[in-house]
This record gives sequence, C-alpha cells and structure tokens, in this order.
Amino acid sequence: MKRIAILGATGSIGTQALDVIAAHDDLQVVALAAGSDVEGLVAAARATGAEVLALADPAAAERAAVELGRPVLSGPRALVELIDAAGATVVLNAVVGAAGLEASLDTLERGLDLALANKESLVAGGELVLAAARRGGGAILPVDSEHSALQQCLGELPREQLSSLVITASGGPFRGRTRAELAEITVAQALAHPTWAMGAKITVDSATLMNKGLEVIEAHMLFGLPYDQIEVVVHPQSIVHGMARLRDGALIAHLGHPDMRVPISFALTYPERAAVPARPLEWREAFSLDFEPPDLETFGCLRLAIAAGEAGGTAPAVLNAANEVAVAAFLTGEIGFLEIEALVDDALQHVPVQPLDDLAAVLAADGAARTRVAARIAEVGA
Ligand code: NDP
Ligand code: MG
Repeated sequence: MKRIAILGATGSIGTQALDVIAAHDDLQVVALAAGSDVEGLVAAARATGAEVLALADPAAAERAAVELGRPVLSGPRALVELIDAAGATVVLNAVVGAAGLEASLDTLERGLDLALANKESLVAGGELVLAAARRGGGAILPVDSEHSALQQCLGELPREQLSSLVITASGGPFRGRTRAELAEITVAQALAHPTWAMGAKITVDSATLMNKGLEVIEAHMLFGLPYDQIEVVVHPQSIVHGMARLRDGALIAHLGHPDMRVPISFALTYPERAAVPARPLEWREAFSLDFEPPDLETFGCLRLAIAAGEAGGTAPAVLNAANEVAVAAFLTGEIGFLEIEALVDDALQHVPVQPLDDLAAVLAADGAARTRVAARIAEVGA
C-alpha cells in the first residue's frame, strides 16, 4: 500500500491525481494540502478520508477546520509540517511555483519518494533537490509528461549509448504568430491551450514557451545531460511526449493522446504500471504527426530559459521568480504578453548570479527577482 500526500490537491494535477488514486485499491491518500481553496480541500478531505490537512492561507485554514471539525495546518511551514505528520511513503508535489521548493527538499531529505509535478522546484533549486535525494535516498519520479516519457524511453539504457534527449512542445496557441501579433494577445487567448487543460500559470507558460524552457532545465537536472544534448522540437499534436536519441541514430519515442493521468499514474504506481482509462491511439483512422523547429526569435522565453540554465547558479531561480511575477501581472491585465519576456530578460540582466550554495541563496535570488519585476511593473503602470 502506498500512502500518498498530495500537495496542491485542489489544482489541475491534484484533482486528476485524486481520480487516479480513487481507481486503485493499493493507493491511499493520507494528507492533502492546497493554498486557499476551502471548498476544494474540504471536498477532497471528505472524499478520501485523508487525516492530515493544510491550507497555506491561515484564514482559509480556519474556515476549513470549522467546516470539517478538525485541525487544518496553515502558514508558511504548513507543507513541511504536513509531510512530518502524514506518515506518507510518497509525496506528490503539485503546488504551482517556487512555493513548492521547500516541500520537495523536505520530502527527499526524509528519504520519501517525490512524485514531482512542481517543475519550479528543479528549476529554482535543482542542485539542492538532487543533493537532498542523494542524502535521503528517496526517488524523484517525474510527473511532467515529457520527463515521464523520457524516463520510460531511457529505462535501463547504459548512459554511453544515449546521444541526446528530445522534448516535444505543442508550440502553444500562438505557434506561427509574429512578434507584432503576440503584442496584441489577450488573457483569454493565452488561456486557450490547443492540446492540454492545465492551471493558469502553466497555460501561460506554454503560450510563451517558457514552460518548455523550464522543462529543458528540469530535464538537465533529472537526467544529468548537458544543455547541448537536450533538444526541443515543436509537435502540435502532443502525441509524441519525448524521445531518446541513441548513438546509432535510432530514436526511442513515447506516444499517447495527451492525458496527464498517464504520467501521474506511472509516477504513483512506479515501478508497477497500473491500467489507466486513457483514450487509445487508434490506427484504423489516418492521422499525421508534424514536427518543426521552435522559433526562438519570436518566443524568446525559451531562449532565456536555456541561457539561464547554462549560466547555472541562481540564474534559473531568478528566471523562474521573474516569470512567476510577470505571468501573474499578465493574468490580471497589468502587462501585455510580450512584457513577460521583457521583464524576465531584465531580471536576468540585473539580478547578480550567485552560486547555488543553499536554500538561503535560492530564496535571496528569488526575492531579488520578484522585487525587481514588481518595481518595473509599478514604473510602467505609473
Ligand atoms: P493549478 O494552478 O491548477 O493548481 C495549483 C495548486 O497549488 C492548487 O492546489 C493550489 O491551491 C496549490 N497552491 C498554490 N500555492 C500554494 C501554496 N503556497 N501552498 C500550498 N499549495 C499551494 O496548477 P497545475 O495543477 O496546473 O500545476 C501544478 C504544478 O504541476 C505546476 O508546477 C505545473 O507546472 C506542473 N504541471 C502541470 C501540468 C498540468 O497538466 N496541469 C502538466 C505538467 C506539470 P489553491 O487551489 O488553494 O490555490
Ligand atoms: Mg510538460
């Protein structure tokens, strides 16, 4: 029996994970955490019988506690306190943003397995997360579909046979657009993703291609390959999720209709593989798979992310934090679509890169980037 704590239980990944777990007798939810969604947390607590609960927002936690008639953890240490109390064997981190980093570190330090959707953990604090996994002995099981695919393509393949990893990108809703067209993009247009239904932040990241940049850094951390051995290809159908290119020229690919329940289930049941009621690829009808190179000039966020990854140290933490603030400002209508890229670029140029020595270094870089971007937005708004 796997005992699972779900962080980010009310979100897109969290609720799909609840569906996956409900279908399996040998998976049990023991703890649930979210940010401020009282209704969502209360419903999930009732549906699963999970005993340990947390909401980051103290007022929301209080309301949930009254409704459920039992304590709900809250405050900045709530996730870590929840992991301590949960008695989980696996923690699914599906929190959005760098807010998930400390929980990833804590999970791995304790030697628990980390099913990781929160890619921002690996972007902001990659080396620290890997060091925590080495010390604690727990596994990092990627939930991100591309990385789950790559893990499966790689299997037990001897590393010297691998020449590169290929991450596919849908290209987002604005594939083929010009910079002038991107300047006019509305929030509603950015939130209409062609192939995946996801939370708002990652949906905007997919539209700017920042998501693919974060995923390149995530792949570098998870699989230990240098950046020049991680390729990105645009594949609008999102059927091929990842490929391993081998030294004899062969490519091993992972295919399936886009459905996050597949990688969620794989991570939660690993090393077993459970049945998932996903729509099968149907060979009785003709269909095509298209591939094209990414347009790094038009979608500069992908270029910035790869450069930040190559720079190393706290540069990816700066990139990530700047992007979080910029995307939030785009979603509230304070800035335009192309300003996301401009603000991330500005933060990378002005926040000095430091070595990634410890969590304090990440938090300092993250804070400096947030302050810088917020100040720039205030200037523009003034
Ligand atoms: P959502 O916005 O749908 O959900 C985010 C979840 O995080 C919510 O449960 C939210 O709670 C919770 N949360 C936010 N802040 C905090 C906090 N400070 N403490 C505790 N919980 C918090 O996002 P997604 O589910 O789409 O994405 C989650 C992560 O998974 C992201 O890192 C994303 O990049 C990654 N991912 C998502 C994919 C997808 O298909 N959705 C695919 C691949 C990766 P509340 O509802 O109360 O605000
Ligand atoms: Mg992905």
